[in-house]
Amino acid sequence: MAPARSRINSLHVAVIGAGAAGLVAARELRRESHSVVVFERDTQVGGLWVYTPQSETDELSLDPNRSIVHSSVYESLRTNLPRECMGYRDFPFVPRPEDDESRDPRRYPSHKEVLAYLQDFAREFKLEEMVRFETEVVRVEPEGRKWRIRSRNSDGISGDEIFDSVVVCNGHYTEPRVAHVPGIESWPGKQVHSHNYRVPDPFKDQVVVVIGNFASGSDISRDITGVAKEVHIASRSNPSETYEKLPGSNNLWLHSMIESAQEDGSIVFQNGKVVQADTIVHCTGYKYHFPFLNTNGYITVEDNCVGPLYKHVFPPAHAPGLSFIGLPWMTLQFFMFELQSKWVAAVLSGRVTLPSEDKMMEDVTAFYAKRDANGLPKRYTHRLGASQIEYLNWIAEQVGAPPVEQWRGQEVEGGYFRLATQSDTFRDKWDDDHLIVEAYEDFVRQKLISVLPSQLLESGR
Ligand SMILES: Cc1cc2nc3c(=O)[nH]c(=O)nc-3n(C[C@H](O)[C@H](O)[C@H](O)COP(=O)(O)OP(=O)(O)OC[C@H]3O[C@@H](n4cnc5c(N)ncnc54)[C@H](O)[C@@H]3O)c2cc1C
Repeated sequence: MAPARSRINSLHVAVIGAGAAGLVAARELRRESHSVVVFERDTQVGGLWVYTPQSETDELSLDPNRSIVHSSVYESLRTNLPRECMGYRDFPFVPRPEDDESRDPRRYPSHKEVLAYLQDFAREFKLEEMVRFETEVVRVEPEGRKWRIRSRNSDGISGDEIFDSVVVCNGHYTEPRVAHVPGIESWPGKQVHSHNYRVPDPFKDQVVVVIGNFASGSDISRDITGVAKEVHIASRSNPSETYEKLPGSNNLWLHSMIESAQEDGSIVFQNGKVVQADTIVHCTGYKYHFPFLNTNGYITVEDNCVGPLYKHVFPPAHAPGLSFIGLPWMTLQFFMFELQSKWVAAVLSGRVTLPSEDKMMEDVTAFYAKRDANGLPKRYTHRLGASQIEYLNWIAEQVGAPPVEQWRGQEVEGGYFRLATQSDTFRDKWDDDHLIVEAYEDFVRQKLISVLPSQLLESGR
């Protein structure tokens, strides 16, 4: 850990966004004695987890002037990680209160339960008193060693304010990426991005091609099979000869990527199969997007690599005044937000120091060189996956927090494995009950909950 300074600075800090990242950032910043204003353009906390049946009018979300719907959550969505490992370390995501029937106690609960958890978190730590709702940040720029923020409230009134520091927590699941399909310009069917997918009903009796087979692609294709005539998943990570009927339904096939789309409505796959399709659903991910940020070109987003950033958080030339929480993906999101927030809060107060700008740039350059040497495309810069525990433990060490618990690491690994190998059943069938017990015993030991939940006691564990 970097050496601590004795004097603690208390700064005036702006946080952009009151989703899972912004909420925990606000909490950690205030704990470290900073004064905090959270700007949130929505009317409530929760970000992505605030489900709305509304979607964008441009179903591919390509029109830069469209009116934005923030959430990408679909009605049937359940978490893709077990709840014990998904929550913040300090406020575990356990069913609470146990006797409230409106809550969802399942291990992989619905999106409503995640929102309720975030609302509980905000209530418990009185976070809403720091939030300015219905206030959108429209511009952020350096002013000397400080930051000027322009925001606009729901009456359309704009104002500028100066802050010592800005923590960007605006999320990155709102600006869609769309796959290029040769011939798509003259293909007559309909195209939708998963950002605008809510319910399967519009796909009744259709032949649907879903591009992408990661979490959303897999969920959405299974959601649609209940009403559609046929669903065909195209995935670029599959070998070109791939053609399989998937278990769990009688109208779902997995293919290699699409070769071309034809004027007569057909879709040709690399495996040579041809289907006459009505709709393509692009489950092809999202772009990082900071339309408000003006750093005179210092920070760029190229092929989904936001940089330069030291450890995905601090841009060296603007550190520590500007920071980003939540950019890495394929990781324990809430847990990582919490650790990154502790780091930012401690660096701003002076308890923890960063290396010099040059040293941070050296680290970024070495990180990019390693990425390239491993043959990873730029768009994987912020993908942690197998390196997540190392990353999380590195930040934990900076702030003097304990490393990732063994049960948590094993739950994630097992969770990813089940997601990949039993995508139709992973939320309801598992063989790691011993890790659930370990997790809850850990929560009790740390006094984060008072007793083991009744279902663990009843089952005699
Ligand atoms: C379909 C889907 C399913 C997922 N499932 C899981 C899961 O099961 N488990 C898991 O851990 N993670 C999951 N994730 C990842 C998820 O993104 C994170 O869990 C987390 O909720 C993201 O939080 P965030 O605060 O970074 O962003 P968000 O939740 O998107 O919050 C950002 C907030 O910033 C606000 N905002 C944006 N721009 C501005 C502005 N200019 N001014 C003011 N306010 C602004 C927004 O209104 C929003 O409230 C999923 C993601 C998707 C897309």
